[in-house]
Amino acid sequence: MDEDTIVEPHVCVRCSQQALIGIVGRCADCIADMGLRHAEEYAAWKIEVSDSIGRG
Ligand SMILES: [Zn+2]
Repeated sequence: MDEDTIVEPHVCVRCSQQALIGIVGRCADCIADMGLRHAEEYAAWKIEVSDSIGRG
């Protein structure tokens, strides 16, 4: 259980800006940027997403 690590749910870990919507710490802008320009980072993030969902 690593729930203690999720203490700032609405601050993007990538650009450090507050975001209304974030998934596994990344804001929507970063997710879009990763999808367009940082394929490896995006793939790693998607693994984090499925891992997070898998843990419930
Ligand atoms: Zn961001």
